[in-house]
Amino acid sequence: MWFLKSENQIFNFLSTTKDFLIGLIFPKICLSCGVSGFSLCPKCQGKIKILKTDICIYCGKISPRGKICQNCRRKSSLTGVIVAAKYSGIIKKSIHQLKYDGNTELLQPLGKILIKKFSDSRISGQIIATSVPLHLTRKNTRGFNQSELLGKYMAKEVGVRYEELLKRIKSTESQIKFHRYERIDNLKGAFKAETKNLSGKKIILVDDVCTSGATLEACAKELRRAGAREVWGLVLAHGN
Ligand SMILES: [Zn+2]
Ligand SMILES: [Zn+2]
Repeated sequence: MWFLKSENQIFNFLSTTKDFLIGLIFPKICLSCGVSGFSLCPKCQGKIKILKTDICIYCGKISPRGKICQNCRRKSSLTGVIVAAKYSGIIKKSIHQLKYDGNTELLQPLGKILIKKFSDSRISGQIIATSVPLHLTRKNTRGFNQSELLGKYMAKEVGVRYEELLKRIKSTESQIKFHRYERIDNLKGAFKAETKNLSGKKIILVDDVCTSGATLEACAKELRRAGAREVWGLVLAHGN
């Protein structure tokens, strides 16, 4: 580009062009009410109901902070699953648009919801945040892993360490068509902990959506094997 004199100018030109092109694809219209200037306007952000009552995701029993209840405890490696909202309405639409349309502008409003719920849960101690990994093939196709972006954003804002602790070593079929027990089977051997030294650590495992809990469970099992003391799932939404 003859009119650009320095590397800096080239960089600025390219990033302005990128923003311009993204603006053409996503003309920043609120996905819920259509007002312009936002991907999700503040008013609609405010309409997302953050869950006030926490439950054990396996049996639905009320359980503070989403702790796995006494009855479900035996068969679970998870300490609990902290759920910000029900998977429906505006939040469902936002997650879809982030994931499948690549509208990463939604990371911030969604990340804020995650942070709010996490702060309310008051988990403290030696925390390391991580996220459910995508298989490399899927990540390359999508260009990003939404759970990783959410996890990093959350960790930075609340001041906890973020580490990639897991690797997805098996590319599994989409989980949607399977029942709960089939889901667990389908995920056998799918994840591997990258480190063997997590003893005494509390892990916050971030994912966008939790359906049956099978994915979080498979990850938690590996993290426990690596010595983690507690593994908390932290998800934006729970449901189908
Ligand atoms: Zn709106
Ligand atoms: Zn339970």
